[in-house]
Amino acid sequence: MAAKSSFTIVVLPGDGIGVDVTAEALKVLRAAEKQTGTFQLDCKSYDCGAVCYQRTGDDLPAATMDACRNADAVLLGAMGHPDIRKLDGTELTPQVTLRVELDLYAGVRPCKLYLGARSPLKNPGDLDFVILREQTEGLFASQQGGIVLHDDVATDTLVMTRPGIRRICEFAFRLAQDRTRKDPKRTRKVTAVDKANIFKSFAFFRKIFREVGAQFPEIEKESTYIDAQALYLVQRPERFDVIVTENMFGDILSDLAAGLIGGMGMAPSADIGDRHAVFQPAHGTAPDIAGKSIANPIAAILSAGMMLDWLGRRHEHEGLRAAAKRIDDAVTHVLADGKILPVDQGGSATTHEFGDAVAHAVEQVSNLSS
Ligand code: ATP
Repeated sequence: MAAKSSFTIVVLPGDGIGVDVTAEALKVLRAAEKQTGTFQLDCKSYDCGAVCYQRTGDDLPAATMDACRNADAVLLGAMGHPDIRKLDGTELTPQVTLRVELDLYAGVRPCKLYLGARSPLKNPGDLDFVILREQTEGLFASQQGGIVLHDDVATDTLVMTRPGIRRICEFAFRLAQDRTRKDPKRTRKVTAVDKANIFKSFAFFRKIFREVGAQFPEIEKESTYIDAQALYLVQRPERFDVIVTENMFGDILSDLAAGLIGGMGMAPSADIGDRHAVFQPAHGTAPDIAGKSIANPIAAILSAGMMLDWLGRRHEHEGLRAAAKRIDDAVTHVLADGKILPVDQGGSATTHEFGDAVAHAVEQVSNLSS
């Protein structure tokens, strides 16, 4: 049987800058599809998000959810709006509902510093690590389920399960293996971040991490405490490769790491499960810059590249993986060239202009040099 070469992609642009950056990611995907010529992407947009809720009373309509379940992959922009809230005052987060419904337990947040991007570090060195955030349990497990007692006491519960810890740790070690395959010079290492000195749940996390790690003797492993890890990420981020941690810690550390590589506009991400995956920039809808055409589309473009790489691995399709690399090379080239840069990286290109520049670089057949 011939290998699959046509893929259904559900596109959820969402709200705020999500709409703008998704348009640029699609443009770059089209360029990669055309340039490679070995796969077809059938991309279709669906309604979802805060504005959708305002209009229809539903932030994740059943038709959208069904389409996501049946798609080969989902490409998402950003969801939410500070002024559009549910009756209980909380914000709309259909992207979190998707994680739960599709069992997307691994939040993959690559943190790579590209030449030409604005790092606040004076001598950042070669920053290229991934934060892996467990996303179906931890402190988010009780989301909406916390208790406020008599307006005096409030509690939320942190949940850790053996299968939940096992699968995220296994994912971390396999990711380290894959990164080594792509770049044999890379140090194979997984760092597990916890607070095992205080909490039983985190001591359990550390124990299971060690158990799983024993199956990967060729990979270096270490455990750190979350407070020290925040310090290490600023002081010597170049020593990390794959960092695996609980939901809330991962949420915070990945924004810190995004700051090191030039801000939220530079931080791609993927929510991955065993059957489904959603690819989206790590940033939110950025209400402060929405509608100004100055959002940096790089995070969304790199997320689209991650989608091709994931599809390529899943379907053993080398053309998809080559297209993913081409997108990364194109971003590397345009940033290093420096003639056209997004506003948050010190340039003046609009979202649209920068997307055009990357799409153009993707289409260049000759080897792109950075
Ligand atoms: P959320 O709660 O959904 O994470 P938020 O508004 O707290 O949303 P972001 O939307 O991620 O957080 O924005 C954080 C900061 O980063 C804002 O100042 C925003 O303008 C900036 N930012 C986010 N994304 C981009 C982008 N693509 N380009 C430029 N700046 C961005």
